[in-house]
Amino acid sequence: MNAYLQTVTGPIAVEWVRVADAHSHVWIQPPPGVPPDITPLSDYDDILKELLDFHDAGGTTLIDCQPPGCGRDARMLARLANATGLHITAVTGFHLRRYYPATNWLWTATSTQAADTFLEELRVGMNETGGRIPATAILIGYDGRIDGQEQALMEAAAEAARQTGAALLLHTEQGLNIEALVPFFSRLGVPANRLYLCQVDQRPDAGLHRELAQAGVLLGYSSYLRRAYNAEQHFWPLLKALVAAGLGHKVTLGLDLSTPGMWVYGGAEWGLEALPRLIIPRLQQEGIAQEIADGLVGQNVARHLVWQA
Ligand SMILES: [Zn+2]
Repeated sequence: MNAYLQTVTGPIAVEWVRVADAHSHVWIQPPPGVPPDITPLSDYDDILKELLDFHDAGGTTLIDCQPPGCGRDARMLARLANATGLHITAVTGFHLRRYYPATNWLWTATSTQAADTFLEELRVGMNETGGRIPATAILIGYDGRIDGQEQALMEAAAEAARQTGAALLLHTEQGLNIEALVPFFSRLGVPANRLYLCQVDQRPDAGLHRELAQAGVLLGYSSYLRRAYNAEQHFWPLLKALVAAGLGHKVTLGLDLSTPGMWVYGGAEWGLEALPRLIIPRLQQEGIAQEIADGLVGQNVARHLVWQA
């Protein structure tokens, strides 16, 4: 059976995904009214250059993680995909409240209204594309609490996932309270194998990671380039522990470069190219089998994002 992954330029066979930044920010254009500390990522020429360098180094795919209303522009994602030959996927859903103008409809919507919007974006198309380009997955901004309007929106996201089989991508705050997620979503009819928990290497509790992976969750490790977070002390030991436990197929690697300062064009030493040029050779040096490495850097996230009946 062939599995197809929805991208902003159409469905592709999952095998085409070889090297993917599993938690990417390709374009962020914050709307008027968001706090000034939310940095735009919207210099087309510089982004194009960085994406082309990633492509030349062996990169094939970017999993964009910016939901609508707080900076996503799927038209720009499609334009950049066409200009670079990269496969780019997009999300519907919602981020943390601080990324939105206070007046955004999400914060007063009913759960049903939100679910209808997420479903429309998945089944028909994303708002700013005039309904032409469907989203691939549903992002949830999760700060560790399940209550109030955030809970209503999480229930809406669960309903959209339940009806479509699309995956739920959870932006977490250093993995805070991720224990609560599998029980919460399973009560709503969404199995653990539809959950992709991002930034969880910032909470390097190998026992907890093994438990979540065994339950079926996909774990996103994306702090490799974040200096405040020591990759040698956390990222690598954690990754090796999961691979040693036979759970390498439940981990995916991304970079989460969410501000221009984290890109080469913005002055950083390494940007997107770190994945093909630093991480992949290191996986080999660590003696991780080719098949497991291929999963870590692309196939695991690609297969996870295919809708499941
Ligand atoms: Zn992110």
